[in-house]
Amino acid sequence: MRLLLVEDEERLARSLSRGLRAEGYAVDVAHDGPDGLARAASGGYAAVVLDLMLPGMSGFKVCEELRRAGNPVPVLVLTAKNGEYDEADALDCGADDFLSKPFSHVVLAARLRALLRRGGAGRPAALEVGDLTVDPAARRCTVAGEQLRLTAKEFGVLECLARRPDQAIPKPEILDAVWDNAFSGDLNIVEVYISALRRKLARARARCEIQTVRGLGYRLTPLRPAPGAR
Ligand code: CA
Repeated sequence: MRLLLVEDEERLARSLSRGLRAEGYAVDVAHDGPDGLARAASGGYAAVVLDLMLPGMSGFKVCEELRRAGNPVPVLVLTAKNGEYDEADALDCGADDFLSKPFSHVVLAARLRALLRRGGAGRPAALEVGDLTVDPAARRCTVAGEQLRLTAKEFGVLECLARRPDQAIPKPEILDAVWDNAFSGDLNIVEVYISALRRKLARARARCEIQTVRGLGYRLTPLRPAPGAR
């Protein structure tokens, strides 16, 4: 099983990779943010161990970019106590778990095992509507197997609708599910995201559509294939 370790402190990177190799993992090491992102994005890793304070691009940004691109690789973030980032930031950026420095190799190895297990069978099921699949665990969305690139908010809105297909979901409910409590803007922001999603779904020729339920909200409904179409 191949792991990617993104850590700029040479000594720590060396000792971590030695420890992980002793656990039986193959380990690639990147020493800065851009290299870490490029390697992680190239795929093939069972998990990424990611420091947050990195030269070039923060681990926070690396993780965000991976998730934005729909990359589901499990990420364990290393946070420094009293550092610029904390645990909440780590999870907010789409990381699956975090570990505060300093930590022992034993704890890191145990957390990784747990993460790799969860990355398999324990994930919540993907939601399917027509040929659209929304995978909440991976933050990934596909149409007929092809990845649909969505922003985090677009993904949230679509996930909210896909959880109850064929049902009218009130706008305030979508707003609550996707925007945090501090958001005090117009309810019509939901419309903006619905329009963007409709465009993307249409462009991908998805066999589902978002219908407007007048005076209430929106409904995600599968489309029947057109007669004669395959
Ligand atoms: Ca660092």
